[in-house]
Amino acid sequence: MRLTRDFTGLQALDEQVLAALRKVPRHAFVPKKVQDCAYLNDPLPIGYGQTISQPYIVALMTDLIQPQADDVVLEIGTGSGYQTAILAELVQQVYSLEIIDELAEAARERLQSLGYENIEVRSGNGHFGWPEHAPYDAIVVTAAPTGIPSALIEQLKPGGTLVIPVGERMFGQELLLIRKDEKGMIEEKSLLPVAFVPLIGSPED
Ligand code: SAH
Repeated sequence: MRLTRDFTGLQALDEQVLAALRKVPRHAFVPKKVQDCAYLNDPLPIGYGQTISQPYIVALMTDLIQPQADDVVLEIGTGSGYQTAILAELVQQVYSLEIIDELAEAARERLQSLGYENIEVRSGNGHFGWPEHAPYDAIVVTAAPTGIPSALIEQLKPGGTLVIPVGERMFGQELLLIRKDEKGMIEEKSLLPVAFVPLIGSPED
């Protein structure tokens, strides 16, 4: 049997990432009817056909960007805002884009009521990134496009990291770790088979 760590090469998750997972109350990010399941290691429905990711995947994606206290991070796919909150525990500023207005509004209110002051949520199409605050130390994408949107590569700092699931709807997606080196060269590593909801509103749709 292949273990996840055989795919990722990570022997253990970073202690600070685990501390952030212990701190952020996941039950506050899911609808009442599934609150009993909030601490299972499962994705859960959050309405509008979307899901809050499985905590392990949130931890892994966070770990992969090697978050630093002075980082500015872009997230595509706010959803419930759970991954946003985990990132905000570890970095200086998180900008997060969500294409479904109602989810963006609910996440904004939820994150504000939990006291986060280093998060900005905007409703918009993540395919184009958020150029106003670019370049980013890291970009985390929580819905799967069929190819890597070029705007996201452009908006990454030299030395920055992009973590993104890429592939066809629900099948054959791979979690990619993309690094832009100091000269702007791109290095891409495929880590793990994954199943994310699709990144919608693509220019090709
Ligand atoms: N990080 C979220 C996961 C939500 S699922 C969480 O922890 O809850 C992925 C989210 O991406 C969904 O809310 C979906 O509406 C959003 N999404 C899909 N396509 C998008 C796009 N083109 N731009 C921005 N958000 C998008």
